[in-house]
Amino acid sequence: MNRFFTLFSFSLLALISTRSSQYDGVWASETESLTRFLLESARDAEFLEWLKRVRRRIHEHPELAFEEKLTSQLIRNELDSLGIEYEWPVAETGVVATVGSGAQPWFGLRADMDALPIQELVEWEHKSKINGKMHACGHDAHVTMLIGAAKLLQNNRHKLKGTVKLVFQPGEEGHAGAYFMIKEGSLDGVRSIFGLHVDPSMSIGTIGSKPGPMLAGSGRFSVIIQGKGGHAASPHRSRDPILALSMVILALQHIVSRETDPLESRVVSIGYIRGGEALNVIPETVEFGGTFRFMDSESYSYLKQRIKEVIETQAAVQQCNAVVDFMEDKLRPYPATINHPMMYEHAKRVGENLLGDENVKQSPMTMGAEDFSFYAQKMPAALFWIGARNETTMKSVKGLHSPHFVIDEDVLPVGASLHAAVALSYLDNHAEKIAA
Ligand SMILES: [Zn+2]
Ligand SMILES: [Zn+2]
Repeated sequence: MNRFFTLFSFSLLALISTRSSQYDGVWASETESLTRFLLESARDAEFLEWLKRVRRRIHEHPELAFEEKLTSQLIRNELDSLGIEYEWPVAETGVVATVGSGAQPWFGLRADMDALPIQELVEWEHKSKINGKMHACGHDAHVTMLIGAAKLLQNNRHKLKGTVKLVFQPGEEGHAGAYFMIKEGSLDGVRSIFGLHVDPSMSIGTIGSKPGPMLAGSGRFSVIIQGKGGHAASPHRSRDPILALSMVILALQHIVSRETDPLESRVVSIGYIRGGEALNVIPETVEFGGTFRFMDSESYSYLKQRIKEVIETQAAVQQCNAVVDFMEDKLRPYPATINHPMMYEHAKRVGENLLGDENVKQSPMTMGAEDFSFYAQKMPAALFWIGARNETTMKSVKGLHSPHFVIDEDVLPVGASLHAAVALSYLDNHAEKIAA
């Protein structure tokens, strides 16, 4: 807590110094004082305790993609008590709330609601109460930060020069919830959008991102190789699908190492193999599957075509037959997440005002994927990592999707005020341009 308040004290000092001149007038002093007011509200001990209570309730009741009924209900209850109107259901469990005048410009803030099929191994008072399900990607914190932003914005609604749309979406973990939110028209009219994702390796009070490509696109495949089973001592009477699988996996690795420009980022990884049960039997079939990552639609098409060709051809060499399923009807591939330079710059400047220049980092690109990319395809968008690590209390970093994943809850007011400040100042800037 001390560290947290120290950071905010720094931020206040930074804000009090007149920074608007550095930004060519983009940061009007009125916006700065509003931002400062949001921060002061977020510092309030009662506010922090409320955020913790909300997050812990969600953490105890994790729900998987498109099953986020309780989480959605909790969000709506909080919005009701804040007097905020919302659209529901969108894409099964999604909620889109509206704060402000209703008039343009409309600015979007996004949180994802779903948990993962992981058994929590962290022993604490608010451990997941659902066996085999856990908020191991911090989406419980994302929802809480956005509810916190809703309260901050609603308390200052008369100062908003437009409208903020709070987008609570289902199914980020592989199920393209964002795609379905857009498909149902709930983002129509929204001009720009901002999102936060917790990062357990970054300290509380820091954020990071980069302009342009930030995360990869992702596709998946599962394969059945059909051979002819028989006695392992008479391989000539069989068609060995295990040998075919071995050749296939080695050949798949050549698509990136031999067919891809070394300066281009692509990945093909196999995640599972299932086949055979006895030491002396050649099985009838084997199954395997994996994921592929890419940075643009051309690479996606190329990888998809070559993965299919390589698997089918290599299986045929071993007199086996392969069926490749990209599962796109159930698991829609994600495009790469590309941050819009202007939106990135805007959020970066707000972050610098809130947290200090030194606490806004340039993050490296990674080949992870996020369905925030669907919003970024539709409108100027920026996704930022937000630090959730307390070096004093956390001895080591437990990564996203780990059963040991933990966050420091002091991230919650930082995220809530950052969300609110990014939206509020976007509306200020945009309204000024219209007026000009
Ligand atoms: Zn995740
Ligand atoms: Zn996530």
